[in-house]
Amino acid sequence: MSQPTYIILLGAPGAGKGTQAERLHERLGLTHVASGDLFRENVSKQTPLGLLAKSFMDKGELVPDDVTVRMVMERIARPDCARGVVFDGFPRTEAQARALDAAFAREGKRLRAVVLVAVRDEMLVERLTARWSCPTCNAVYNLLSNPPRVAGQCDRDNTPLVQRDDDKPETVRRRLEVYHQQTAPLIAYYRAAGLLREVNGAQSIEQVQAQIVQAIEEA
Ligand code: ADP
Ligand code: ADP
Repeated sequence: MSQPTYIILLGAPGAGKGTQAERLHERLGLTHVASGDLFRENVSKQTPLGLLAKSFMDKGELVPDDVTVRMVMERIARPDCARGVVFDGFPRTEAQARALDAAFAREGKRLRAVVLVAVRDEMLVERLTARWSCPTCNAVYNLLSNPPRVAGQCDRDNTPLVQRDDDKPETVRRRLEVYHQQTAPLIAYYRAAGLLREVNGAQSIEQVQAQIVQAIEEA
C-alpha cells in the first residue's frame, strides 16, 4: 500500500478549514480530523476530557497541549485514518507541532504539506457570527454564504442546526487574539521546514478548494 498522505490546514477560526477538509475527504479520501470536533464530542458526552476542555473553550482559550496531543494521536491511530488525514485545527501551538513531528519521526510518517488558508480578521468575524453547524455530522453552513437547502436543517441528515456557544462576538474576538499569539507562529515554523503553501481564503468555497488541491498536488 502507498504511504498515507498527511495534510495540515492552517488558518484562523473561520478561515474555512472545516469546510475545505470535508471536501478534501470527498475528493481525496482523506479522513478529516478536527480537534475542535473531537473536543465537542467529548463535551456533549460529558467525559472527563470534555469537562476539562469546556472550561477553556467557553473562554476562547486553548485546551492544554498534553491532553490535545494525546487525543489527536489516538484518533489518527484508528483504522479509518490508514489512507491519510487532513488535520483541521491541529496543531495550534508550536509545542503541538513539535509533538506531531516527534511522533511522525518515531513512526516513519511524513507530512506532505501545510496549507495556510489566509483570510483577514474582519471577514472572519462576519463568517463566524453567521456560522451554523450540524451537531450530528458536523457539516458547516453559513446563513449568508453557504445556507442549507431547508432553513435551519442539515442537508445530509435533517438534524436541526445549532450555533456554537463560542461563536458569539466576545469569544470570537478572544479566539482571534489567541490565534495571532499562539498559532500564527506556526506559519514561520512550517515555512522553515519547507512545507508551507498559502492560498487566498477570501474567494468562493470552490475557488479555495481548487487552490488547495493544486497546492497539495504540487507539494
Ligand atoms: P474553520 O473550520 O476554519 O473555523 P469553517 O469551515 O467552519 O471555518 O467556516 C467558517 C464559516 O464560514 C462557516 O459558516 C462556513 O460556511 C463559511 N465559509 C467557509 N468558507 C467560505 C468561503 N470561501 N466563503 C464564504 N464563506 C465561507
Ligand atoms: P475554530 O476553527 O472555529 O477556531 P475549533 O472547532 O477548531 O474552532 O476549536 C474550538 C475550540 O476548541 C478552540 O477555541 C479551543 O478551545 C479548542 N481547540 C480545538 N483545537 C485545539 C488545539 N489543537 N489545541 C488547543 N485547543 C483546541
